[in-house]
Formats: sequence, structure tokens, C-alpha cells
Amino acid sequence: MNKKYDYLVVGSGLYGATFAYLATRQGKRCMVIDKRPQLGGNLYCEQIEGINVHKYGAHIFHTSNKKVWNFVNSITEFNRYTNSPVANFKGQLYNLPFNMNTFYQMWGVTTPAEAMAKLDEQRAEAAAKMKDDGVTVPRNLEEQARILIGEDIYERLIKGYTEKQWGRPCVDLPAFIIKRLPVRLVFDNNYFNDKYQGVPIGGYNKLIAGLLDGIETKTGTDFFTNRLYWEGLADTIVFTGKIDEYYGYCYGKLEYRTVRFEEEVLDMPNYQGNAVVNYTEKDVPYTRIIEHKHFEMFGSEVYNSSKTLISKEYSTEWKDGMEPYYPVNDDRNNSLYCQYKALADKEKRVIFGGRLAEYRYYDMHQIVECLLERFRSE
Ligand code: FAD
Ligand code: UDP
Repeated sequence: MNKKYDYLVVGSGLYGATFAYLATRQGKRCMVIDKRPQLGGNLYCEQIEGINVHKYGAHIFHTSNKKVWNFVNSITEFNRYTNSPVANFKGQLYNLPFNMNTFYQMWGVTTPAEAMAKLDEQRAEAAAKMKDDGVTVPRNLEEQARILIGEDIYERLIKGYTEKQWGRPCVDLPAFIIKRLPVRLVFDNNYFNDKYQGVPIGGYNKLIAGLLDGIETKTGTDFFTNRLYWEGLADTIVFTGKIDEYYGYCYGKLEYRTVRFEEEVLDMPNYQGNAVVNYTEKDVPYTRIIEHKHFEMFGSEVYNSSKTLISKEYSTEWKDGMEPYYPVNDDRNNSLYCQYKALADKEKRVIFGGRLAEYRYYDMHQIVECLLERFRSE
């Protein structure tokens, strides 16, 4: 066909940037465009007061796949940041995920046997209540959570947070959201079970810059404003935007949850002593506060600065013009996506990839993993 590029990559998020990097390494000619004013998609960081601020939400890279970890570290070095969020319920602090520290803070128990006895007691109460109601399988998130972890933890650490995050009462949410709650009978506040985790030293822009080094890019450029031109430029389009938009919303619109971030620069070196504090009561309107300087390592230069930056996260329903963050994978949306996917499967010149084009909540490591696999076998 002899077009100018082999691939026109629409979107410079982790999917687009990694695709372009791997394709270029195989000798392909790539061009990457993005409608935002900057590269990096949701990984983009802005430096404010010397702090790398995760502008589209806090991002922690975690994986158990050594190849994925080695790959991202070959692009830029990661630190050993370990996510250990704290929950604030009415001024009381609890460690997450649910572990011996949490059980001590909740009930004063000091041994795994005592914690287990308390959990069993509360689980049995939940099971008895369901039996009284004539139910055998949990019908919703509330019943599921009580069966898994008991009333106290559900009421203080799950109910308010979940209802704020999803904008619906727990009794109207599906049980599966909370089915795999980790419960640890050890004093371990590491949120993830993965072998490797961290944040790029110097922020995520270093990762994106490394991936796109030497590749032609154009920001502030929406594919749809000049679609024919861009389609004529390359043999294959790699599309990482919204799949329903690609097809002109012909079957209707997919839904998302979005987050509004309220940033404040504070005249103090350290506001909350941790990167992530979740506010688990219903009456506090935000779900969590992120203090971005804590993603860098303790003792690094940024810690000496007299200022800090926090962002409060407000979870809301998505409307046109907002950033689509979380796909809502309920029955209606999943079957709508399947209709679009059927159209996508017939395309010969278009690859649909990433969070928006596949309408799937991908973590970063999953994106890198699937692309390493794709390029290994090509
Ligand atoms: P995106 O980053 O959304 O990139 C898509 C890009 O395409 C955007 O830059 C967009 O502007 C561009 N685009 C769209 N349409 C067009 C168009 N028409 N023309 C031109 N450009 C277009 N993952 C983790 O592993 N750990 C975490 O801690 C974590 N935290 C998260 C927190 C939040 C709030 C969110 C929303 C996600 C989080 N994730 C996390 C998931 C992570 O963000 C995704 O895995 C990753 O960003 C997906 O990359 P992507 O390239 O598919 O999408
Ligand atoms: N969750 C909760 N309390 C918390 C943190 C999480 O009840 O303090 C629940 C909530 O239902 C949320 C789910 O656990 O939807 C997954 O939360 P996590 O922060 O792990 O995932 P993410 O928000 O990144 O999808």
C-alpha cells in the first residue's frame, strides 16, 4: 500500500505508547496522535512545587510478571514505593488491606487466633440473618461483604466508601465487586499481593518519554476532526479511544464512572503522612485524599520542601465532556460493548486496544503484558 506510516496510533496512553515502542523496535514506522495537550494518557504527571502530581489519578505499578517489571524498568527506573493506604472513619485510623493491624485497631485483638474468632463470630451472625431472610446465596454487595468480613468492618470500612465510589446503595450493587477481598492474618499493610511494585523515579512522564523517544507525535489532535486524513496516512490504525465513539455511537452510548480532582497546595511539609488516605464514612463527600509527594521515596529531595500538594477525589457519574475513567461493566453496558466488538472484529485495518477501546478496567501491567505477548508472537 506504501503509505507514509505502518501504524497511526490514536492515543498516547500506556497502550498507544507501548505499542509504538514495540512496533518501532521491529522496524515499523509509527505516528502517535493525542487529543489532549500532552502525552501519556492517564499516566501524565505535572510538576507542581517540585512534586510529580498524578493529574488523572494516583497510579501505582504492580505486577508479578518479571518480564513486565524488567521491561518497564528498562525504559526508566522505578522506586520501591509500596501502596499501604490508611482508612479514616470518623477520625479513627485503620490500616488496609484488612490485616492484623486492622483487626487490632477494630477490636483490640492481638493474635491471629483471636482475630479469627472475632471474624467467625461476625460471619456466623451474617449467615444466620440471611437464613432468617430465606436466602442461601448473597444477593448483593452488602450481604456478600457481611458474609466475608462481618458487620463491623463492613459498616466502618466498606459501606460508605463503596456507595460514594459507585453512586449506588450497596444493596443495589452486585456481590462480585467485593468477592475477593483479601483478609490477612499477618501484620502486613502492603495493599497488593504482587511480587513487584513501584512508581517511576521522577514520575510517569519519564516512562512515556522513554517509550516514545524518537517516535513522531502530535498532541492537541483529535482523530475524529480529520478522520479521512489520518486514515489515509497509515496501513493500520491502532485505536485506543472510546469504541462507541469510533462507530458514531450507532448502538447507543457506553457508560463510565468519573472522578473530579480538587487540588490544594498547602504551606506545610507533610499533610497526612501517607500517599493515600481513604475516607470511608458516607458524610465526607470525597472518597480519598492523595498526597503526591509520598509516592517519591522518603528522604528524597522533595521531602525537604516546605510545601505539599493534596488532591481530594470525588467520584461521580460520567457525562459528555468529562473524562471517562471507569467502565461500568454491568449487563446493559457489557452487551452494548459486545455489539461494538462484533463490528470491530470485522475490521481489517484497525486494532482496538486499551481501556477505552476494549471497555475493560485494565491495570497498567495487564496492558504491558498483552502487548509484550502480541509482539513476541508477531
Ligand atoms: P488512556 O490512558 O486513557 O489513554 C488513552 C488516550 O487516548 C488518552 O490520552 C486520550 O486523550 C486519547 N484519545 C482518546 N480518544 C482520542 C481521539 N479521538 N483522538 C486522539 N486521541 C484520543 N492502573 C494501575 O496499574 N495501577 C493504578 O494504581 C491505577 N490507578 C488508576 C487510577 C485511576 C483514577 C484510573 C482511571 C485508572 C487507574 N489505573 C491504574 C489504570 C490505568 O490508568 C490504565 O491501565 C492505563 O492508563 C490505560 O492506558 P490506555 O492507553 O488504555 O488509556
Ligand atoms: N473498598 C472499600 N473500602 C476501601 C477501599 C476499597 O470498600 O477503603 C472497596 C470498594 O467497593 C472498591 C473496591 O473495594 O470499589 C476496590 O477498591 P480498590 O481501591 O482496590 O480499587 P479501584 O478503586 O482502584 O478499582
